[in-house]
Amino acid sequence: MGNSILVINCGSSSVKYAVVPNDPAKPRIAGLAERLGGNEARLKGIDTHGTPFSCSLEGANHLEAMRAILERLADQPLLAVGHRIVHGGERFTKAASITPAVLRAIESMTELAPLHNPANLVGVQATQALYPGLPQVAVFDTAFHQTLPPKAYRYAIPIRLYRQQGIRRYGFHGSSHAYVSQRVDSLSERSHGGWLIAHLGNGCSTCAVWQGKSVDTSMGLTPLEGVVMGTRSGDVDPGLHAHLGRLGWRLEAIDNLLNKQSGLLGLSGLSNDMRTLEQAASEHHEGATLAIDVFCYRLAKSLAALSCALPRLDGIAFTGGIGENASAVRTRVIESLPHFGLRLAGKANTNTVGGKEGRIDTGDAERPEIWVIPTDEEGRIAEETRRLLEKNQ
Ligand code: ADP
Repeated sequence: MGNSILVINCGSSSVKYAVVPNDPAKPRIAGLAERLGGNEARLKGIDTHGTPFSCSLEGANHLEAMRAILERLADQPLLAVGHRIVHGGERFTKAASITPAVLRAIESMTELAPLHNPANLVGVQATQALYPGLPQVAVFDTAFHQTLPPKAYRYAIPIRLYRQQGIRRYGFHGSSHAYVSQRVDSLSERSHGGWLIAHLGNGCSTCAVWQGKSVDTSMGLTPLEGVVMGTRSGDVDPGLHAHLGRLGWRLEAIDNLLNKQSGLLGLSGLSNDMRTLEQAASEHHEGATLAIDVFCYRLAKSLAALSCALPRLDGIAFTGGIGENASAVRTRVIESLPHFGLRLAGKANTNTVGGKEGRIDTGDAERPEIWVIPTDEEGRIAEETRRLLEKNQ
């Protein structure tokens, strides 16, 4: 039997995978099947010899993509498979071995994550069909936030909606926030303290972590709540929905507008990609300049608000494609929080990009620290899968 964990992240139009060896020094095999369902569907990644590859999967659906991926991994010595499952509701507070009952529970949460949970389940079913003897583990995006207290997770709406429909704040990006907070806790001398984490990728969220536990986070019932994202609006006046409804908008159109056409893309009228926007803003593009302004300001507001959940602020950690690379965004956010006593070290900030990990504040012992921690969601999912297997032995 092998000792690597295959991590599968089956999204609404893509499947990401990684083979994570037990020894962190060994290289990972990883890849991505994207644009599934369309003519431009492709599978690309790094093969078993470390060579990049890319091939067409024209018209392939999730199941076919999973088959193509698993065929490529046929000679891998696997111990188990860890699946990223977006919504675990209140039932899953940690990773779970996949059994028929667990599958039914994930399916029953489809209403809470209509785009994600069904796609996640396709990944599980395809892997089960192709690797029937291999243990499969579900690792939930929501589980890390199950430690939120009611004052952080309840909406100020009638209690029956919570009791009967499970309407509450759940939070997402759990594997990333868990990994980054644990990592920063281990690197900093102020171990086991209070941290604010900003995960800034295509989806963005913030999280307050106290002594290793999530105590508040910016995403809510769905991954739409909170800060400005690539194409998601983040917080808007909840009255906007009724307003648009009265103007004749259908529910699906409102949902599509706020999830797919808003955020950086909607504000800039140009792109959802921070690199494109930074370039355009440097050439005085008005929309791009405004989009970055709103993004940074809202992010700083979210971090300030989440600081209320912490008895003490030990520092802030940035992660995700934007958090790990856009040093100008980090500068803008920190400048908007002067009353927190944060101070960036200019050079360390501009040098800590491209997947580097490091501390980027001036090092004053009395000030909160600032870190860049490249996230490792696959590593975290593999670790949780391994831990569960060991416990069950
Ligand atoms: P996902 O959430 O899909 O995993 P990523 O974490 O890769 O996404 O983040 C994607 C975002 O990171 C995009 O907005 C992209 O423009 C941004 N990004 C990546 N590299 C840079 C860079 N060098 N400078 C600014 N933004 C960057």
